[in-house]
Amino acid sequence: MPIRPTVSTFETGTHAMKYISTRGGMPPKSFCEILLGGLAPDGGLTIAESYPQFSQADLAQMAKLNYRDLAFKVISQFVDDIPAADLKALIDKTYTAEVYCNGRKDSKLEDITPVRELEPGLFIQELSNGPTLAFKDMAMQLLGNLFEYVLAREGQEINIVGATSGDTGSAAEYAMRGKKGVNVFMLSPHGKMSPFQRAQMMSLMDANIFNLAITSMFDDCQDIVKAINNDAAFKAKYKVGAVNSINWGRVVAQVVYYFKGYFAVAKNVGDPVDFVVPSGNFGNVCAGHIARQMGLPIRKLVVATNENDVLDEFFRTGSYRPRGLDQTYETSSPSMDITKASNLERFVFDLVGRDAGKLADLWKQVDKGPGFQLSAEDTARMREQFGFISAKSTHADRLVSIREVFEKYGVMIDTHTADGYKGAKDTRETGIPMVILETALPVKFEATVREALGRNPDRPASFVGLEDKPQRCEVLPADAEAVKAFVAKQIDA
Ligand SMILES: *Cc1c(COP(=O)(O)O)cnc(C)c1O
Repeated sequence: MPIRPTVSTFETGTHAMKYISTRGGMPPKSFCEILLGGLAPDGGLTIAESYPQFSQADLAQMAKLNYRDLAFKVISQFVDDIPAADLKALIDKTYTAEVYCNGRKDSKLEDITPVRELEPGLFIQELSNGPTLAFKDMAMQLLGNLFEYVLAREGQEINIVGATSGDTGSAAEYAMRGKKGVNVFMLSPHGKMSPFQRAQMMSLMDANIFNLAITSMFDDCQDIVKAINNDAAFKAKYKVGAVNSINWGRVVAQVVYYFKGYFAVAKNVGDPVDFVVPSGNFGNVCAGHIARQMGLPIRKLVVATNENDVLDEFFRTGSYRPRGLDQTYETSSPSMDITKASNLERFVFDLVGRDAGKLADLWKQVDKGPGFQLSAEDTARMREQFGFISAKSTHADRLVSIREVFEKYGVMIDTHTADGYKGAKDTRETGIPMVILETALPVKFEATVREALGRNPDRPASFVGLEDKPQRCEVLPADAEAVKAFVAKQIDA
């Protein structure tokens, strides 16, 4: 059901914002026209024609807003075809303390992304209080409501085909379950997720949710999704859409919490603040880059990686070399076990001065292998002009980080946030507040937390016994045709 218009504190949410492809082959489109799609028709990623700008005076005003009003202020800049009152209502319905409570009850939850101080100048921003206990709920819950609204308005249906190494899948499924006009087909690497992650997804019995366990690594799942999207006839016939991390709606929703986190820690609006972002597909930190381009005074964006350090290598050397499957490690921060970082193309588009021809040339080298090497000048500009630096953390580092944060600050963190903590220790500078983005709760990765602390993390009551619930999935080979046949069978039935 379309949401009913409510009174908005802001008069207009309709901006003349259009979207183009990073590879230059798409005429400008509106927000709702790209919302339901995956890749642009030319294989590029969709991106705003330009970034909206906030002045210091705007920021001073925004600093006082609650999460919902702040989200509207930011997101409405990117939306040109949903009436302001409707957009406000969708945002208000999404970002509530009830949705982002993880079974907890405290007054800080009204902040939606509460910030805790570990010690003066070092903070963790909680992004994992949503239904699946990972930061992906921050964007996905909004996407579920946006999809339902747009599909109902346009009398459309969509079949979401996505790939997940863990958290995207469950976040998508919890956002889309029971939503009218939507089916979800989620590919995941068979046997590669934590028992908790697997149980979260596969215990869903909603008729519109299909879990496909692919007998290979995450990157094969991602390649199958790409192959399906490249089959124009299949895509059109079966109304295939996406919600993986290249979805523009997700990136935009994630921009909001950088503003919220900034305002929570900056003494004065205008002061520099650093963010550390546990990274895989570069979706989260890409949102930080966009916030920075919009005028938020972020100084450094620290891209924190695990042993799968393709992004660390890129930001240190300017060499982008996606790895082969044989060089991909299975780590204890599995949601960052990627060989290539899908959203990186959006940042590199900005880096090369939004020259679509130049960008397309670079990605030709990625698609054909082995990747590309930036000039020394462009490599330096990533740090100097765009504030990017990087860090790397290993399993041994994660154990030390989890132990140290627990012993020093009494806070239990998960393995991905631990990679962020290591990045913070490696790059922190005195006098500059640093915010580590928490990307999941420790209960999702119990085994490693137990290894570090000798005890299990506390479990929210609603998750006790999760692994014992009945599970449902379809095991399929790493073959796009097999997946297509399965999708077709369900829809044609
Ligand atoms: C998805 C995920 C990441 C990586 O985020 P990207 O947007 O892909 O860079 C990190 N940590 C957790 C827990 C995640 O689920």
